[in-house]
Amino acid sequence: MITHSTVYVGLGSNLNNPVHQVKQGLRALNTIPTAHLLTHSALYRSKPLGPPNQPDYINAVAVLTTGLPPLTLLSKLQTIENKQGRVRGAERWGPRTLDLDMLLYDNRQSQEPQLTLPHPGLYERAFVLYPLYECAPDLVLPDGQRVCDLMQLCPAEGLQKIGVQTLVWAIQTKVWTPLK
Ligand code: ATP
Ligand code: CA
Ligand code: CA
Repeated sequence: MITHSTVYVGLGSNLNNPVHQVKQGLRALNTIPTAHLLTHSALYRSKPLGPPNQPDYINAVAVLTTGLPPLTLLSKLQTIENKQGRVRGAERWGPRTLDLDMLLYDNRQSQEPQLTLPHPGLYERAFVLYPLYECAPDLVLPDGQRVCDLMQLCPAEGLQKIGVQTLVWAIQTKVWTPLK
C-alpha cells in the first residue's frame, strides 16, 4: 500500500512575469508523479529578502499529497525550477524565475543541508507564514509551535495579498483589508 504524505511547498518568483511563473509552478506541481495539489493560497506580493536592488516577489504556498520520499520530491521540485529557467547565481537570495521550497513534509524533522525540514525560513518569513495560514489555519509545526502564533510575531509589513483587489493586513483587526 502506498502511504501518502502531506507536503507544503513555498513558491516565489521575481523574474520574467512572476505571476505567470508562480501559476505555472502550481500547475507543474500537479504533474509530479503521485503528487496531487490539494489546495493553494492566493498570490502575495512581497519585498525581496536579499539584495534590495531586485524586483518585488510574488509568493504562494501549495499543499500536496505525494507518495514520493522527501529527497525524491526535492529533486522533482528542482527539475521544475530548472524547466522554468532558474539560474543559480553566486548571490544569495538573488532574483529568480521560480523558487520551490519544501516547507514541511508531514512531521519530518531534518537538519541536513541538502534538505532541512521544516524549512528554516518558515518561522520568520511573512511571505511564507501568511499564505501558509491561509491554507491551514490550525497547522501545528513538528516542534509544537502553531503557525497562527508565529504570525503574531511576524509583521506583514510590505506584504500584499493579490486578487480582484490588493489587500494589506490590518494589524489591529487581524483581517486583510483593501489597499487605499
Ligand atoms: P532559502 O532556502 O533561504 O529560502 P533559497 O531558496 O534561495 O534560500 P536555494 O538556492 O533555492 O536557496 O537552495 C539552496 C539549497 O537548499 C538547495 O540546493 C537544497 O538542497 C537546499 N535545501 C535545504 N532544505 C531545503 C528545503 N526544505 N527545501 C528546498 N531546498 C532545501
Ligand atoms: Ca527560498
Ligand atoms: Ca529554494
